Amino acid sequence: MDFNNEHLSRFRELINNASSIVLIPHKNSDGDAIGSILGWWNLFHKLGKKATVVVPDEVPGNLGWMHGASDILVHEHNRKNVLTALSEADLLMFLDFNNVKRTGDLADDLAEVTVPRVMIDHHPDPEEGIADVLFSEVSVSSTCELSYHLINALEWNQHISLEAAECFYAGIITDTGVLSYNSSNPRTYLAVADLVGKGVDKSLIHKELFQSNSLGRMRLLGHVLCNKLELMEENGAAFISLSLDDLEKHNYQPGDTEGFVNYPLGIKGIGVSAMFTEKEKDKFVKVSFRSRDEVPVNSYSEQFFSGGGHVNAAGGEWHGTLEEAIQRFRDTLPEFVQKIKSK
Ligand code: 5GP
Ligand code: MN
Repeated sequence: MDFNNEHLSRFRELINNASSIVLIPHKNSDGDAIGSILGWWNLFHKLGKKATVVVPDEVPGNLGWMHGASDILVHEHNRKNVLTALSEADLLMFLDFNNVKRTGDLADDLAEVTVPRVMIDHHPDPEEGIADVLFSEVSVSSTCELSYHLINALEWNQHISLEAAECFYAGIITDTGVLSYNSSNPRTYLAVADLVGKGVDKSLIHKELFQSNSLGRMRLLGHVLCNKLELMEENGAAFISLSLDDLEKHNYQPGDTEGFVNYPLGIKGIGVSAMFTEKEKDKFVKVSFRSRDEVPVNSYSEQFFSGGGHVNAAGGEWHGTLEEAIQRFRDTLPEFVQKIKSK
């Protein structure tokens, strides 16, 4: 993969001169976000560099096996140590997000830090001025794949340890739905082949990622599919909703609803799926969107749910009740889809 030579040498220089690097992913982090920060964290350890991982909120349980996960500082639980790490940092690295707002409350503390920033990400339209050095590449499957190509371009491939390879591999696998979408470019498989060649135990990682569900999550999925899935057939859309009550009854843990939004797309004729998750009673709803083919859910989310993301996978938020969020979807999606189809 080709990178701008000036950006590459500036990045190399920033890393070489740094003595304390802080790595940061987005809020509600997923396999790609945690895989990429811990992949770099392991690489820096191999290079003898001090690096610290700071995340906005709790890491999903199915990612806790990654090497370095137990050293992660969680801003919402441990702000004091996060502030110490930030005060000692001489380089910040932002991974898998394109706007500082995506770090939630951590954004205010980041605003106080004046050291250089590097951003590595695959979301479209990065925020103006977000970083001093920007590696923004929408065509890659994941931030983990982009990181892998970047490390190759820096000629550090030999420093990718087994532990780093496991993290990068996991991010590619989770962000592509096990190589089912965003994975039509052969270079993704070259990356996977090289990472597996470094000794990654594929079966073990798939077990950690996909076969370590709690009974609560499985029952919650059953409940959602049976009772909380609604179709808007005439618009080729479907949505699921989860109230705080649904979550509590199933002993919800962070990450438990990961991937639920993909299920409605498995229904014949459904090309847009949404999931509404109540986070604060009557006050705040997290929204996720997925689509197939031509419906750009990132622009839809930006327009109607203050969000963004990728063309076929996006997220947003609603400040109000669950019912209002659903009503907004019912009111606005049909026209949006109609406009796209008539183009
Ligand atoms: P998910 O539905 O898995 O939370 O997110 C899908 C995609 O949309 C991810 O790439 C994520 O980074 C992005 N995304 C999720 N929530 C938001 C949001 O509130 N704002 C923006 N701009 N992007 C989001
Ligand atoms: Mn990603």
